[in-house]
Amino acid sequence: MKKIAKIAVDVKHPRVKGEYSYIIPEELKEKIRIGSRVLVPFNNKKTRGFVVDFEEEELIDEKLRNKLKSIIEVEEVAIPEALIDLAKSLSEYYGAYLIDFLKLMCPVKSGLKKTITYKINRQFTDSLNSDIQKKIYLFLLDKERASVEEVSRATGIEKEKVRNGLNALYKKNAVFKEYDAANRAKIKYSLGNYNDYNFDSHEINLSVEQKDAVKTILKNFDEQKKPVLLFGVTGSGKTEVYIRVIEEVISRGKGAIILVPEISLTPQVVDIFERRFPGKIAILHSALTDGERFDEWVRILKGEVNIVIGARSAIFAPVKNLGIIVLDEEHETSYKQSEYPFYDARIVARLRAKKEDLLLIFGSATPSLESIYEVQRGNFLLVKMRKRINNRPLPAFEIIDMREELKKGNKSIFSRRLIEELENTVARKEQAILFLNRRGYSTFVLCRDCGYVAKCPHCDISLVYHLEDKSLKCHYCDFKVKALETCPKCKGNKIGYYGTGTEKIEEEIKRFIPEIKTVRIDADVVSKKGMMLKEKLLEFKTGRANVLIGTQTIAKGLDFPKVSLIGIVLADITLNIPDFRSGERTFQLITQVAGRAGRGLTGGKVLIQTYCPESYVIKAAVSYDLNNFFKQELKNRKEYNYPPFCHLLNITLSGTDKEYVENLSWKICEMLKSCIEEEVEILGPIPALRFKIKDNFRYNILMKSKKYTPLIQAQKQLKEISVNEDKVNFSWDLDPYELL
Ligand code: ADP
Ligand code: ZN
Repeated sequence: MKKIAKIAVDVKHPRVKGEYSYIIPEELKEKIRIGSRVLVPFNNKKTRGFVVDFEEEELIDEKLRNKLKSIIEVEEVAIPEALIDLAKSLSEYYGAYLIDFLKLMCPVKSGLKKTITYKINRQFTDSLNSDIQKKIYLFLLDKERASVEEVSRATGIEKEKVRNGLNALYKKNAVFKEYDAANRAKIKYSLGNYNDYNFDSHEINLSVEQKDAVKTILKNFDEQKKPVLLFGVTGSGKTEVYIRVIEEVISRGKGAIILVPEISLTPQVVDIFERRFPGKIAILHSALTDGERFDEWVRILKGEVNIVIGARSAIFAPVKNLGIIVLDEEHETSYKQSEYPFYDARIVARLRAKKEDLLLIFGSATPSLESIYEVQRGNFLLVKMRKRINNRPLPAFEIIDMREELKKGNKSIFSRRLIEELENTVARKEQAILFLNRRGYSTFVLCRDCGYVAKCPHCDISLVYHLEDKSLKCHYCDFKVKALETCPKCKGNKIGYYGTGTEKIEEEIKRFIPEIKTVRIDADVVSKKGMMLKEKLLEFKTGRANVLIGTQTIAKGLDFPKVSLIGIVLADITLNIPDFRSGERTFQLITQVAGRAGRGLTGGKVLIQTYCPESYVIKAAVSYDLNNFFKQELKNRKEYNYPPFCHLLNITLSGTDKEYVENLSWKICEMLKSCIEEEVEILGPIPALRFKIKDNFRYNILMKSKKYTPLIQAQKQLKEISVNEDKVNFSWDLDPYELL
């Protein structure tokens, strides 16, 4: 009989993080199992944790055994064993603590508490003499039922008083109590009516390519179960392929996980799934509160729903009898979590698929180099869709050389061609999208007398002027000041605002075409809550605006049938970022943004403005020459030894005491150099490109290796180092996406 359990405990302090042994009291033995969430004593406090193993009593040293404490409580909540196993593999792989992955799998703070809703008793006739009770009663009379929180929010009466009032009303039989386990508010991201298409599954006839894709994928499901790369041009109807495959998987009694880059930015995919699988779907989005997340989690665990849609962390959803994982827009960087615990949902998905024998589909119109390389090595099955639905043509590109514009005396951010095409589009009552991957108004502020540039006092970066509130903002921290009129250094008044962001585009275009109606979507809008984004999307979708201006936020799977023109205002912005992936990112952005055009019955055109038309990235993108792009890019990566030809481990140290951080970086670097034997390149320590962020100085050590093993070994070493947490932040990122 099991007597001792190994528990991954949830403690903040990194030095005591890990797994500890606890005695299982007799009365809890029936209830406990691998994955159980438990309450245990830790350092004179109580803390939650998860059972990750059982241990043989005899194998534990007797002295230690005598010191062991007992588990206090075993909860009903448990992580499925397959996921515990996945977490173990991941903590090995990323050199992170087991508990931090378990916390992604099961919310640790919320409990199985039932929510109480109060329902009005319409038969109640007595009079009420307390004002508060009257107010609450009237509110419920109108609303029928509500929780304490809802009543408090609506009436402005504090929660405690509402609770007392409701209890009094309950005693008087004026209201009923209803217990509900998982019925908390759900935000819907539906975009309204889809009049253009009918989503009833029986009425959509698959195209020949879609049929073939579904057939190939299902055959693969039954036979070898290789991960599939569904490589379909924009508008080829990949969503419909996912749906048909998932329908089949569901009909065999299995569940599905669909990952999207970001829920609020892919409202249409979510909407389509909700229509096609009504009542079977849980949506895990970032707007959920802890409690709501927990409720959804329980619903999924119990099998009340068997389809889960969410962003990267939904890969950990405890779907019962899981059969398939779909990862849409697999090239998106948002699948990578760039903070502790670092992980890549694509890697987790592959691991999980392998462990649980699942079908895995990666879908994209612009697959990542990593996935293309896996196809070449025979590890992924490639399924292609080359045509758009109904043979709609892909939009035609036109490159505009901005150097020529300058020569001809046009100093504006808009070429004459772009203005002309915009005018035509508006005249035809069609829509256009203007894309610029930089938000704000002016991207730097300079004094033309003394050369002063406005910089963030906390970060190594220029401040950006925002027209909306006439302020200078830092895009790395919350720093914000009023816009400058005089130079703080020389007191002169030759302060100039330079560089172009989305806000300026919006203003300028109105100068050229006064009748234009614009709507702008970028991180400034998105961060102000999901609802704002929804409204903006709707404004464009319904035709109240004819031009949508945005950053990469709008490059994702949006589908606006009336868009016939796309203007990429300056393709060079992403191209010039000093990162080995900048070519790939630019190629993807151009192709994805272009993919928003010509999705309806009207054709489409894309104008790219650039100072660098000879770049192979732009050339390949405008001719839809993906093969050539992949070939060229893979060649470069091989030559300079970058992924997918090697693996990277990026170690970052940061802190306010520059010297301290620098010294420690050198020490760690030396340590790594002395103990890593296999062929590994160790670069650094180097001051990070963004050397100072939020008053912290940052140093990087970059390790490059053909094989994973030495990097995993290095992470083990790093985990052993105990640093002074007060003086330095110390982290490492395997397969990083952010090297800046
Ligand atoms: P992708 O994700 O490949 O860019 P979508 O899945 O968004 O493409 O599909 C593009 C559009 O075509 C959507 O509006 C979708 O409803 C529509 N569509 C997909 N399949 C069909 C079909 N077989 N017949 C008609 N319309 C379709
Ligand atoms: Zn800052």
